[in-house]
Amino acid sequence: MRALFLDIDGVLNHGDTETYFEAEKVQILNKILAATDANLVVTSTWRIGATPEEMDEVLTSQGILPGRVIGVTPDLDDQRGQEICEWLRAWADCYGIEKIAILDDRSDLGPLVKALVRTSKAKGLTEQDANLVIQYLNSKFLLPLMA
Ligand SMILES: [Mg+2]
Repeated sequence: MRALFLDIDGVLNHGDTETYFEAEKVQILNKILAATDANLVVTSTWRIGATPEEMDEVLTSQGILPGRVIGVTPDLDDQRGQEICEWLRAWADCYGIEKIAILDDRSDLGPLVKALVRTSKAKGLTEQDANLVIQYLNSKFLLPLMA
């Protein structure tokens, strides 16, 4: 299975519009999901206090393809790289995760930065970002799950 670790603010919206998802960005994410068959693990602060099922409902209500959210990362005091590592430690075998990519406007990911496609907070998710994620997830080469 392919997993895309998804931030929301600065990805599905941009600038200071951090209270909603932008339809144009949602369409770009759906293009990634359709092209890669990836499932989503939500890393954004939007996940705090929500189950994966609840996050899937939130994303679906915003137009994202339904049933894609398989997880939310644990809350480890906003250390995003560590949170993703913890999620992988707990679930990668269970889900048979073979390939990952990370979409985020932050880059404090430690060794996992190798799997990052970094968006700009000023623009949010672009077509170019999406093409990179698709390349990562569809490449024949396994990305390192842990360095
Ligand atoms: Mg962000």
